[in-house]
Amino acid sequence: MSTDAEQTAVSGEAAGSGEAAGSGESAGSGESAARVNLLGLTREQLQAFCALLGSKPFRARQLMNWLYKRGCDRFEDMSDLALGFRALLAARAEIRLPEIVSQQQASDGTRKWLLRADQSQAFEMVYIPESDRGTLCISSQVGCALDCTFCATAQQGFNRNLSTAEIVGQVWLANRELGFEPAGDRIITNVVLMGMGEPLANFRNVVPALRILLDDLGFDLSRRRVTLSTSGLVPQIYRLAQEINVALAVSLHAPDDDLRSQLVPINRLHPIAELLEACWHYIDEQNGRSVTFEYVMLDQVNDSAAQARALARLLAGHPAKVNLIPFNPYPGSRFRRSSDAAIFQFRDLLLRGGVMATVRRTRGDDIDAACGQLVGRVTDRTVVRLGSRAEAARSRVARANA
Ligand code: SAH
Repeated sequence: MSTDAEQTAVSGEAAGSGEAAGSGESAGSGESAARVNLLGLTREQLQAFCALLGSKPFRARQLMNWLYKRGCDRFEDMSDLALGFRALLAARAEIRLPEIVSQQQASDGTRKWLLRADQSQAFEMVYIPESDRGTLCISSQVGCALDCTFCATAQQGFNRNLSTAEIVGQVWLANRELGFEPAGDRIITNVVLMGMGEPLANFRNVVPALRILLDDLGFDLSRRRVTLSTSGLVPQIYRLAQEINVALAVSLHAPDDDLRSQLVPINRLHPIAELLEACWHYIDEQNGRSVTFEYVMLDQVNDSAAQARALARLLAGHPAKVNLIPFNPYPGSRFRRSSDAAIFQFRDLLLRGGVMATVRRTRGDDIDAACGQLVGRVTDRTVVRLGSRAEAARSRVARANA
């Protein structure tokens, strides 16, 4: 897995295609290597797997209903499946979720979970509640190879791609953690691939995961509520346009190639003009509304009035909006956040230049859950884990006594 993952870390090229159902899901300890993890299978793959077991395709619908609509992860509880089929599933398949190492809640209600990738590595997901929506920010890789100079994830380097099951499993787990009830309202209304990793560098696992998020038998999210954020892997933006229809966010961060190449090194390979061309193609192909350009606000680096005007000239007249992200510091970071005055001036200049612009509210920064602060912090994990286990045990006792 790791060699393959390394190869795909930047190029995003699938090493080998035509995967059989489930064969791509090799994450985990290997204890159950012979079993197929149903969580990583698209509807078509699940149908193929059911056929392999000698069952009818409608079994796949039933399974998806249990998995995604009822949040059930135990074959023995799937009461409308024939006993024989349940036994077959138990022998040949599994529903394996990422293991939660720890969780934290910020003062603003934002929650962050640390999930185990293997003995020494972890990845993170973040839930951001707002009055009109609940957004889950998920990871696509453990670490990241793109090396953006202002991002904490980049500091830890690249470890491996997450499997489709691990990507989908984040949404499944968050639903359970947040108390999702089968007949109740959605708790997660939006999913953004803005956690750890570069999603387009893990193309072959991310695309099936997106299919499951959008599938009406899966999480049934609307395509405008699923957003993939990329640092700008141009060839993969073209491929994505052919494969699936989701909202696209692009980390631009600078209005000119000199500066962008310093902040987002992939720009040396795919400069701004090429990147924008791919973005407009994406919108054309998909009949989409607009691309969201993320722009991190770095004090005296990319936040001047001249830079705002240059950015407006670049984007005006195109299906684009800009989301300004106040820089979130982390230990050892060499940048500072722009002043509020600079951020709002920048926004106003964009608006005046004919470009829709908003400022992203910083959420969850007291637990390092804000943009660019996710590092799968391995070092202090034991401490946190012991703490949360103790807390879980205490609340179990409290419930039992209630
Ligand atoms: N690899 C994807 C997803 C990254 S995270 C991408 O590059 O788009 C989502 C956003 O947070 C990106 O725009 C990223 O550049 C930004 N970001 C990274 N570090 C940050 C930091 N320290 N403060 C604010 N935003 C940051």
